[in-house]
This record gives sequence, C-alpha cells and structure tokens, in this order.
Amino acid sequence: DHLISQIAAGEVVERPASVVKELLENALDAGATTITLRLSEGGKSLIDISDNGCGIAANELSLAVTRHATSKVRSLDELEHVESMGFRGEALASIASVSHMRLTSRNDAAEHAMCIDNLNGTWQTRAAAGEVGTRIEVSHLYFNTPARRKFLKTDATELSHCVEYFTRAALANPHCAFTLTHNDKTLEQYLATDWQHRIKDVLGKNLPEHAIWVHHTSGELQLIGMICPPDVARARADIQYAYINQRFVRDKVVNHAIRTAYADVLHHARFPAYVLFLDCPAQGVDVNVHPAKTEVRFRESGAIHQFIANSLKKSLAQTAS
Ligand code: ADP
Ligand code: MG
Repeated sequence: DHLISQIAAGEVVERPASVVKELLENALDAGATTITLRLSEGGKSLIDISDNGCGIAANELSLAVTRHATSKVRSLDELEHVESMGFRGEALASIASVSHMRLTSRNDAAEHAMCIDNLNGTWQTRAAAGEVGTRIEVSHLYFNTPARRKFLKTDATELSHCVEYFTRAALANPHCAFTLTHNDKTLEQYLATDWQHRIKDVLGKNLPEHAIWVHHTSGELQLIGMICPPDVARARADIQYAYINQRFVRDKVVNHAIRTAYADVLHHARFPAYVLFLDCPAQGVDVNVHPAKTEVRFRESGAIHQFIANSLKKSLAQTAS
C-alpha cells in the first residue's frame, strides 16, 4: 500500500505547491476561519499549516492518513454532487508517502489534541497539546524519492507556485483570515472581510486603477468580481482568476465568454485582468472532469457562456461610454 501511495503521490504531489493546495483545501473544507501557512525553503524543507476548523476525532486520525479514507463522500450519489472541494481521500496518504508528516488535531469533543507522525517510518499516535483545529507539518518532501527531488526548481520558483495557490484560496474565501510566512518572514496577512475588500487586499498595488466591480444575477446564476479594461491593464496576464462555486478554474467556456465581452465592447481582448466568481447550481456543473480539477464541464454551457458574456458586456459598456 505504501508503494501504491507513492505512485499516487506522483500524480497528486508534483511539487511543494501541490501539497499546499491540498492542505489549504482540507482546512477550508473543515470550516476554518483562520489559516496560517508557514513555508521554509520554498516549501521543500517545511510546509506547516494550522487551521481552526472542526478538527479530526482522535479515533479517526490514522484513518485520515490512509488511502481512500475520505470523510467527505459517503455515496456514489454524493460524488455526483460534490460541493466540497476535496473528494478523493488520498491526498494526505500520498503526501505522507513522500515526506515526513506530523498531524496534530483536536475536535471540540476532545479534551486535548492528538498527534500522529511517520517520522520513524511507521505511524505513531500520542496525546499532544493544541486548540480545536488541525496542524499538519510536512517536512523533507521527496526525502525518499531522490529522482523526484531532482526535478524541484529553486526555492524562489517553488515558493512562487505555493504563493499562487495561497492567493487563489485567499481570493475565494474572504471570510477566512490567512497568513503566509516564508523562512519566518511574513509575506502576506489578510484579515477576514468581504470579497471586494479581499480582492483589494490581495491585489494591493496591482489593483488596476480603473477596476470595474461586477455584480450580476440571473435566476440561479450569479457573477461577481472585478474586471479591468485593457487600455489601463498593463501588458501582463497574471491577474486572471476565475472561480466556479468557489473553485479556481481555467475553463474554455469561461475564458471564451470573457474574451467575447472584451472583444465586443472594446474591440480587442488583450491581457484582460479579472477576478470573477461564478455561482451556479451544483447539479449544473461537473467538477470531476480533470484530476487537477481546474477544468469543469457545464450541463448547459451555452447558457453559462451567454450569462458571463452579457454580464461583462454590460459592465464594460458602462465605463466605455
Ligand atoms: P479528502 O480531502 O479527499 O477527503 P484527504 O486525504 O485530503 O482526503 O484528507 C483525508 C481526511 O482527513 C479528510 O476527509 C478529513 O476527514 C480529514 N482531514 C484532513 N485535513 C483536515 C483538516 N485540516 N481538518 C479536519 N479534517 C481534515
Ligand atoms: Mg483533501
């Protein structure tokens, strides 16, 4: 089973940022309103994440680090209506198979925290100190798979990938406070707020001067966020964040709709900057198309495309006139 986990890790754990992504999703799934992420050496030597979510029951700790032990999908039917972000039940096991992992957790029924770690090669559990919530420390990533370790880039590059996932999570979860440190230096700190302030906080000085705030609804569809006309957008394509039901996506339908709106109103669609959150009924979108889960499939992609394009055209037209 360890070997199977290591093979699975090859798909799930491409680099430190993949670990960061999975652990952030778990913390958010657990209902955290405070998440602190500490990285060392681009995440290669340490990824340490603490949350104040629901925690894990003491008798489920060893299950949590076992393959296909998800607490999140209880039936096939549920799989078809996945609304929580993680569902495969193998992230922790995969990460643990290629690293040293220590998981400390406490739920609100427990009198103290419990800790499980694989530092000696097998899982060992003991009582520990800790508040309600979960802390997961992942150190020495790929210590036992040197071939994979060789593919890691410089600390700066690995860090930038980690920051990207951190940013994606922070944008989509403004109700949650986030802190990010690297080598003990605080890089980002976001207080809990609303989506508009979170966008401002995250983009900071990169917030386009002529940002247009978007807020459209049509039936069960809602589109909120920020777009920016290309004439003031600098020639850069890095502020491009689209979410469907809080999940970050790179989706052809969404991208095409955005470009259509820009092209129709402004007659070109170069480097549009945007942070957009589309909300639609969970049955209308299949999120299991791609293992990396940035692609989705819409049941009625035509209607979604039209809604996004029309909404953005209205917003862009307001400022263009
Ligand atoms: P999945 O998220 O797909 O269920 P994971 O391997 O990521 O699988 O996590 C396994 C299980 O461990 C989760 O289903 C959840 O019950 C528990 N778990 C992991 N991280 C946390 C956390 N931060 N807070 C509470 N429970 C967690
Ligand atoms: Mg998960």
